[in-house]
Amino acid sequence: MLTCNKQLRLASTLFALMFFSTPLLAETATETSQSTTTKYAPTSVDMEVKKVSEHVYYVEGVPGIATDNEGFISNAGFIVTDDGVVVFDSLGTPSLANKLIQKIKSVTDQPIKKVIVSHFHADHIYGLQVFEELGAEIIAPYGAQKYIQSEAAASRLEERQFSLEPWVNEDTHLVLPDTTVEKSNTFKLGGITFTINYMGKAHSDGDLTLLVEPDKVLFSGDIIFEGRIPFVGSADSKKWLDTLTRLETGGLSVLIPGHGPASNNPKETISLTRRYLAYLRKVLGEGIEDLTPFEEVYADADWSEFKDLPAFSEGNRINAYQVYLSMEAELLEQ
Ligand SMILES: [Zn+2]
Repeated sequence: MLTCNKQLRLASTLFALMFFSTPLLAETATETSQSTTTKYAPTSVDMEVKKVSEHVYYVEGVPGIATDNEGFISNAGFIVTDDGVVVFDSLGTPSLANKLIQKIKSVTDQPIKKVIVSHFHADHIYGLQVFEELGAEIIAPYGAQKYIQSEAAASRLEERQFSLEPWVNEDTHLVLPDTTVEKSNTFKLGGITFTINYMGKAHSDGDLTLLVEPDKVLFSGDIIFEGRIPFVGSADSKKWLDTLTRLETGGLSVLIPGHGPASNNPKETISLTRRYLAYLRKVLGEGIEDLTPFEEVYADADWSEFKDLPAFSEGNRINAYQVYLSMEAELLEQ
């Protein structure tokens, strides 16, 4: 049905190209750009903008698995300056990004100039195409290109086109960043100083965080999860844990994680993710040392500290298995 509509659209465009003069084409183009807000399937989710400091706002996804809540499971933020808006992460569907843009417009008339992507996982990047259409510069961590060209990225998109239809559909596509970041740097916009911290391969193939200097607000992406089980995926849990341990939190007033509410107590917020990773590495590492098979280690482990957290039943076993395999590989590397 959708394909059919698309073919019809294509056919009528070709017809117009063949038979009509330039003014009509110009008119068609204008119509297209004005209809930006309606070309994405409407989303019914509640998206409340929360102001956390003088310049910083964010919207908070509902904790859960990828397909819960129409894909609105991750956070995004924006910083309003006198010379444009900087957005952090783009949410998990173009429809959600489109809604976020409407929310930004309700706060400020400033144009959206930059979108900084914490990492290339579906729940943070499928909204990018909407920002690209607005002409915003897309900034992403080094490693993004590798993901975009991977088979994993293609099959994930295909799966979401099915599981998150109509919000992710055949028109949803991955966006290559305009700029990739491979070391930490600072930039200024509208008198506000921003620091991008490149964390390397921590939670994904490349992660970064954004510090809004004057407000002392840190966007941490998925390096830190608040109030739910982290998704470990292909992460290097050793590096990730080291990163958390090193992460300087002194003097921060607010930490906005990739998932869950903003925290006024950054140290405490980091603690859950750090304790979870440390526990996985401890209990699985001991099992590996004793040559105990994964099934047995997993069944014998005491999960009581984490078992009541959101996403535990969906994520814990696969997280544990991933850490078990990667720790075995670490042993071989030694
Ligand atoms: Zn995420």
